Amino acid sequence: MALDSGSRQWLIKLFGKSVRFKEPMSKHTYFRVGGPAEAYVAPENFKELVTLIKWTLQKNIPYFVIGDGTNLLVKDRGIHGVVITLKKCLKKITLVCKEPVCKEPACKEKDRTIVAAMAGVKMQTLCSFAIEQGLGGMNFALGIPGTVGGGIMMNAGTACGSMESVLDSVKILLPTGGVQRIEREDLNFSYRKISWAKGIKTKGRNRDDQWQTIILEGCFCLYPSDRQKLEKEAEEILKTRYKNQPANLPSAGCFFKNPLHGKTAGQLIELAGLKGKRKGGARISSKHANFIINTGKASAEEILELKELAQETVKKMFGVDLETEVKIVGL
Ligand SMILES: Cc1cc2nc3c(=O)[nH]c(=O)nc-3n(C[C@H](O)[C@H](O)[C@H](O)COP(=O)(O)OP(=O)(O)OC[C@H]3O[C@@H](n4cnc5c(N)ncnc54)[C@H](O)[C@@H]3O)c2cc1C
Repeated sequence: MALDSGSRQWLIKLFGKSVRFKEPMSKHTYFRVGGPAEAYVAPENFKELVTLIKWTLQKNIPYFVIGDGTNLLVKDRGIHGVVITLKKCLKKITLVCKEPVCKEPACKEKDRTIVAAMAGVKMQTLCSFAIEQGLGGMNFALGIPGTVGGGIMMNAGTACGSMESVLDSVKILLPTGGVQRIEREDLNFSYRKISWAKGIKTKGRNRDDQWQTIILEGCFCLYPSDRQKLEKEAEEILKTRYKNQPANLPSAGCFFKNPLHGKTAGQLIELAGLKGKRKGGARISSKHANFIINTGKASAEEILELKELAQETVKKMFGVDLETEVKIVGL
């Protein structure tokens, strides 16, 4: 483990009740599984966040930023180092401007509005804010749980759109403590993934790029619309979502990415006869075969066994490699 007693004392002195040691990650993931984080810290403000990051880098202590844990499977032995949540320190939404700012030629005709949402804001809060302001563009994200930071990092979306459709720029925290704004033209979007153009300095000393770069804020390019129309659309979107997905049970959403061509991951798993299949407390949902459910007392290990079973069976029967969408982290 990385934290010696001096490090623990430093964390307690700086963060008081906002730091917890050996914190079960099962309390912070939708799956409700996951062993302990060595330390779990919720900085109260931006200054505290910067101090914490600089300290971890200086001490060579790994850190891991989480959003709402809705796309995470934390392994049973937990997470080495410091887990950081931004829910306390980055929770503001601002209506930035009402000018035609979108750089896409097709958008110049329309009166676009920029909304800035900090990383710790819940995605559903941003969707509701947009509707209340009579702004269209965010409805694709209705029902996607999690935070704005997690949503940006995952390029979260549905068949109706993704973060790529609306994101104008992002602000990131550099491992040095500096803040950098990255414009849309420097962002690369792909299926459930975002990256930025080479030459933008984000590398630090931590072991994995994704673990270092912290999304602080996203600016979203929305368009004026009719509030009632948006509300009606929202009702329909949510109705369809809850009809097709086991949204009220512990899971991490769709476990696998859909293959680029042909049948969806859920269809392949269902055709492989795995709907309802169990390993201990973990089960492949009988409502949507791309969801693995924790029926109560599942371990991460049992979930991983089901994941492997689905991958092996689908490969054997259809020759398709299923790639995980869920982020699997920990020891
Ligand atoms: C019932 C259910 C339905 C779902 N439906 C959908 C859907 O329709 N479409 C879809 O795309 N997803 C869906 N998901 C998956 C998940 O909700 C999204 O991926 C969501 O955007 C993750 O956000 P989060 O805040 O929970 O991120 P987390 O799960 O906490 O983290 C995900 C990744 O993002 C990183 N991260 C989080 N915040 C930051 C930050 N500020 N800076 C840097 N990195 C960060 C984490 O380190 C991790 O690698 C669903 C999940 C569930 C449980």
